[in-house]
Amino acid sequence: MPASAPDPTEAALELARRVRGPVLLPGDEGFAAECAGFQTGVRQEPAVVVGAAQAADVQAAVAFAAARGLPVGVRATGHGLPEAARGGLLIGTRRMDTVRVDPAARTAWFAAGARWERVVPEAARHGLAPLNGSAPQVGAVSYTLGGGLGLLSRQYGYAADHVRSIDLVTADGRLRTVTAAGDPELFWGLRGGAAALGVVTGMEVELFPVERIYGGGLMFDTDLVDDLLETYLRWTETVPEQLTSSLGLVPMPDVPAVPKALRGRFVAHVRIAYTGDPADGERLVAPLRAVGPRLTDRLGDMPYRESGRIYSDPTTPHSYRGDNALLGELDAQRLRTVVELAGPGSALPNVIQVRHLGGALGRPPAEPNAVGHRGARYLLSVLGMPREGGVEELRAVQRRAFEAVAPVTLGRSLNFLYAQGNADRDTTARGSAVRGVYEPADLERLARLKAALDPTDLFRHNYRVIATS
Ligand SMILES: Cc1cc2nc3c(=O)[nH]c(=O)nc-3n(C[C@H](O)[C@H](O)[C@H](O)COP(=O)(O)OP(=O)(O)OC[C@H]3O[C@@H](n4cnc5c(N)ncnc54)[C@H](O)[C@@H]3O)c2cc1C
Repeated sequence: MPASAPDPTEAALELARRVRGPVLLPGDEGFAAECAGFQTGVRQEPAVVVGAAQAADVQAAVAFAAARGLPVGVRATGHGLPEAARGGLLIGTRRMDTVRVDPAARTAWFAAGARWERVVPEAARHGLAPLNGSAPQVGAVSYTLGGGLGLLSRQYGYAADHVRSIDLVTADGRLRTVTAAGDPELFWGLRGGAAALGVVTGMEVELFPVERIYGGGLMFDTDLVDDLLETYLRWTETVPEQLTSSLGLVPMPDVPAVPKALRGRFVAHVRIAYTGDPADGERLVAPLRAVGPRLTDRLGDMPYRESGRIYSDPTTPHSYRGDNALLGELDAQRLRTVVELAGPGSALPNVIQVRHLGGALGRPPAEPNAVGHRGARYLLSVLGMPREGGVEELRAVQRRAFEAVAPVTLGRSLNFLYAQGNADRDTTARGSAVRGVYEPADLERLARLKAALDPTDLFRHNYRVIATS
């Protein structure tokens, strides 16, 4: 800690008196567990961690850090940590997991640490659905702040497009409720750029009348990948907006939790959520089934409450690095090149995913926000698990894969940057992970908000928004 707080224990005790959750220093029992998250390749090693139990704890922690010039990081579940942060103050929000649904207004309010696995069932009790993504364990707040590309997104748009209000603690320690009417500029920037602007303690979002869907997945052997890539891309041009899908090339882990037939294999997995009639769903997916025999075929009518099984994303914490590109177009030949460079046959195989965009994602929302590149038709993400000491070799493979799609790349999605870090500790956005996430004018607009609200860059342990000049 800096000179103004010579005795860290004394300082922590002072903070502990003001917050309900734990305040822990390195070496304290529970410190490591309080800092740990899903991403194990990015270690948070703060000088002090606060396990916030309520909004007032967040306010006290931010004020404490600001008074001492300590950089602040926030972590809910640890699925999207930007970088290994040393020193400073980390605010853990997992104790703040309240979820309230108002069925008449079709809205939900959730606190900073609530995961989708708490929000989805609460909404489902009223026949409603939020705009959650593939993994139930992901935190609902950060997912939404970063855009939020969900299972129903072609029909309804980004999760960030359907936020009603955001409770935010700014660098001055103030807790404010930000709405479109009350503070339009901040409301615009939070939805897309929030982590740079403050700590969100809760938010209210819209829910949608979706109780059941035709959904699930088809798994194919990678022998069929060539045909499948071609068929899938052609097929996405024909499907209605009520159908949201993706294609993933996934190395299945060799562990007992995975069905025997799939263990240790690379599979091609098409994931589907369709809100129309199940019989129409069957007709719509016929061209995909026609590609060949499936290793598994789990498509059918299902309650939305169980939507977490569509992707069956991993739930065990592990180390991963990844990046993404929002693409204006994609043809099978280009995708094949990506697969050759970074897929099953490459020296360092990655999970390669193509998410079909368009529909409502391509239209401006009722209340504009900082989520950019709405003209993108696909999102390509490449994610791998580095070998011991092998982060750079993995990054090199991923960089080559993205070079193959550079001519059709419009930008990047904040949510699908995995441990990209804040390479730039200088004053410009050159080399920054967020470069390409925002439209240039939006980045400047966000940087102005940042300069006004957080002039000392207190929140610099998150992805940083920095002016380009
Ligand atoms: C398996 C998996 C599946 C995913 N699926 C999807 C998907 O389908 N669609 C999609 O859009 N994204 C998806 N993501 C990305 C995910 O939405 C982002 O990584 C998101 O940031 C994770 O939020 P978290 O709270 O769970 O993670 P955390 O790592 O706890 O938070 C990530 C970052 O968000 C910021 N943050 C967290 N809480 C707050 C807060 N209260 N106030 C301000 N800033 C905060 C911090 O900078 C923090 O470092 C997926 C990620 C994984 C690992």
